[in-house]
Amino acid sequence: MMKFPLPKVTFPLTINTIGIVIATGHEIVARCCTNGCTRKNGRLNLVQIAKRSPLGWEQGTLHDELLQYVFCPVCRAAGRNDKNLAFTLSTGDAHCLWPKAEHDRSEAAKRARGGEN
Ligand SMILES: [Zn+2]
Repeated sequence: MMKFPLPKVTFPLTINTIGIVIATGHEIVARCCTNGCTRKNGRLNLVQIAKRSPLGWEQGTLHDELLQYVFCPVCRAAGRNDKNLAFTLSTGDAHCLWPKAEHDRSEAAKRARGGEN
């Protein structure tokens, strides 16, 4: 089993490696920029990229540093350029619907009961 000791977060903060992205609770989303592609967004599996990189957690997160590890599967299957990607750093909760969906269901149930708890 490969161990992943996360790096120490120091200030001033520079988010420039996969280890720092994970240690600070961020994630990276890839977006395919090819016209007509139906696969627009996908979160990168940063753990898998770190495992495949010879640098591990120290793998850089600049566009060209990430591009070698990812591709657009829809464009690859269609025979198009599968590396026409843009990357965005985002907070980890930006795409997690679970707590919000739970909250929304709970609120809807309260309204259905006439507002009591
Ligand atoms: Zn694509």
